[in-house]
Amino acid sequence: MDKSYQKLIQGNKLYAETKIFQDPEYFSNLSKGQTPNYLWIGCSDSRVPANEITSTHSGEIFVHRNIANLVVHTDTNLLSVLEYAVKYLEVKHIIVCGHYGCGGIKAAMTNTYHGFVDNWLRNIKDVYHKNQEELLVIKDEDDRANRLSELNVIEQVRNLAKTTIVQEAWSKRKLHLHGWVYGLKDGLVKDLSVIHDGQKDIDSIYRFNINGTKAKATEVKSAVPVVKLSQNRVTIKTKQRRVK
Ligand SMILES: [Zn+2]
Repeated sequence: MDKSYQKLIQGNKLYAETKIFQDPEYFSNLSKGQTPNYLWIGCSDSRVPANEITSTHSGEIFVHRNIANLVVHTDTNLLSVLEYAVKYLEVKHIIVCGHYGCGGIKAAMTNTYHGFVDNWLRNIKDVYHKNQEELLVIKDEDDRANRLSELNVIEQVRNLAKTTIVQEAWSKRKLHLHGWVYGLKDGLVKDLSVIHDGQKDIDSIYRFNINGTKAKATEVKSAVPVVKLSQNRVTIKTKQRRVK
């Protein structure tokens, strides 16, 4: 049997001994409960560990990870983590953190058949399709993948804002959604400045009237596509209209 796993057991012993040496009450304090301020939705990639790259400690970040940091509205795993973090832990910030050089993003950009995981990667293909006008002009494949990593994060933050869980929280308190991308080559996080902190940031069709209160739809502009048919040509223009 491969014995490499023993390195983890030994590493764990060293970790526990070091912590107790530094603070004898460390584990007894942690075992009392958790009050993290942040929910982290990141990629499963082994090179992007939430605590390590943010210099935070146990108890500071509630973490959910999956391939390519996706927020899928039918994913009961993610929704359960999200509800627990928002409703019960009352986190103040939710961070979707993607990363450059993401294998999931690269795989989604190809026509290669991988198996079941392609159903998951389909969500990234949809982001690609939605933004292909911008992506197709980027000739370098790595650059295009990196831009898709950014666009994917932006889309997942939007997906978070569309959930009933986040909108219910917004009806009661402040909750900030952030989109970041981590660089494997320099270890630095890039803040994409896609902060959402209220229903005003999402299209009206995705807003819910929580507690019977009407969303302030009139304050926000909505993109309404106008389809024109002339001389056998179909043109679709997007007009900015106020929603009533
Ligand atoms: Zn990844």
